[in-house]
Amino acid sequence: VVCLLLVRDETSESQDAKAPSCLSREDHALLSSLPLDGSLTFSNTSSAASDFGLIHFALPAAIVYPKSVRDVQVAVSAVASSPGLTLAARGRGHSVHGQAQALNGVVIEMTSLKGIRVAPHGEPGFGQPFVDAAGGELWIDVLKATLKEGLAPRSWTDYLYLSIGGTLSNAGVGGQTFLVGPEISNVLQLDVVTGLGHSVMCSQTKNADLFHGVLGGLGQFGIITSARIVLEPAHEKVRWVRAMYTDFATFTRDQEMLISQPPGLAFDYIEGFVVLKNEDFNNGWNSVPFDGQTIDPSMIPDEGGSVLYYIELVKKFNWNDMGTLNQTVEKMLAPLRFIPTLIFTTDVPYEKFLNRLHDVEVSLSSQGLWDVPHPWLNLFVPRSSITSFDALIFKHMIKGDFSGPILIYPLKRERWDSRSSAVIPDESIFYLVAFLRISLPSSGPLLSSLIAENDKIMEVCHNAELGCKMYLPEHVDPESWKRHFGIKRWETFARRKRKYDPHFVLAPGQNIFPRIQ
Ligand code: FAD
Repeated sequence: VVCLLLVRDETSESQDAKAPSCLSREDHALLSSLPLDGSLTFSNTSSAASDFGLIHFALPAAIVYPKSVRDVQVAVSAVASSPGLTLAARGRGHSVHGQAQALNGVVIEMTSLKGIRVAPHGEPGFGQPFVDAAGGELWIDVLKATLKEGLAPRSWTDYLYLSIGGTLSNAGVGGQTFLVGPEISNVLQLDVVTGLGHSVMCSQTKNADLFHGVLGGLGQFGIITSARIVLEPAHEKVRWVRAMYTDFATFTRDQEMLISQPPGLAFDYIEGFVVLKNEDFNNGWNSVPFDGQTIDPSMIPDEGGSVLYYIELVKKFNWNDMGTLNQTVEKMLAPLRFIPTLIFTTDVPYEKFLNRLHDVEVSLSSQGLWDVPHPWLNLFVPRSSITSFDALIFKHMIKGDFSGPILIYPLKRERWDSRSSAVIPDESIFYLVAFLRISLPSSGPLLSSLIAENDKIMEVCHNAELGCKMYLPEHVDPESWKRHFGIKRWETFARRKRKYDPHFVLAPGQNIFPRIQ
């Protein structure tokens, strides 16, 4: 037996550090003999042992760097033929709870499989422009390639240094989701290597069960080697607006009114945030204005609780719209009831807006605040519970030392395909609520107490029967997963697993199906 030991990362409080990575001689021989176009390594596997969360660590026995779809097939088939091995596709490793890890198993680094092809005029059978992108390509590179043709995908996450396969395995949610659905609603076709090592093309009409299963499928049914994504004409610039509120009911009423406008009259992007009622530049009211401007504290109303809210809006435009832009945006803002003195506006190029978090990453990295533990909690909260959620959680549980952004914005169920594996509340409108905590290296609460606060939020939601569903879910046992899916969806999910990955080889880091020996 070949045994390795993962040395604990001293910057964090690992929950499962020091996990040994052991491989039998048979598995070692099996993996050593794989006929790959790319490569495989048994050394330096710690690069795939952690993720953006820096909470869970699991050392794989081997890493495969595929150069072809055949490599992915070869690796999956070999792992499936072994009695105990598992395999995780890893995109950017930007999960926060070990979802792309495979303890003692094989990690496939999907970013080494390249390929972006833009079809500006579509092709027979696909009348609209699209891009074919390899599963490990990053959204930022897809954006850059499509912009060369004056095109861009329609649906985005806030951050673009994520892989196509990783986000499509979850949903891919952002400010455009209310309008065009999540990223998984904007896929025309997928190429997938199943847990049996078969490469299968699937779409709404071809192998549809696999297509819907893989979208939002947490990597359980196959590895996405390529995705065909819908494109639209790209605009040149955006008008970017932030408007502040003290009253939660007014804030949510305005958000819901905004997402209910007909497509031609709606903003192109709508999100919302909770900020602390203090001057902090990261979490307080001074995080709201653009370009480092500050807000005079006397402008902040006394009323309301310990937090403030703001809506973030975007209207895309081209240079030739400039003549009417002010009037159009003013008309769209007219019905809103934000604090009149607390509205901020800027115009930026479209690409700069979509890639806005990259500047934040660069700045935080330079301060040593990017590669720190991220005990994030993302929830979908039904509209009928959002007022209780504000009272029980935002107003009661969010303290002045909260570190990291808090997002809250409404989504429409009709923009999601109920046949996909993604789990959302059973109401026509629900909110994304994201507690994007960072655990500061030298100050603030310990990582363990931040994780405990997330657990407490889940407990309060459960006890008050708010009907919340975790997004980017993290559950520890099969019973919790069954509750997450609900009986009917769980049956479909488990049936698809038995069909497409019968040895339960894929994505072990999700902790849903233990490997069948
Ligand atoms: P990984 O962490 O590498 O993998 C995630 C899961 O997908 C794993 O189970 C893995 O095995 C599986 N997987 C990876 N590649 C494939 C593949 N090719 N085929 C099949 N399965 C695969 N999410 C949003 O929805 N909206 C946001 O705005 C958003 N912003 C974010 C900002 C930051 C800074 C970060 C760190 C994350 C953000 N996320 C957001 C979450 C992100 O979408 C998920 O964590 C996503 O899984 C990350 O993609 P990845 O490529 O790093 O996936």
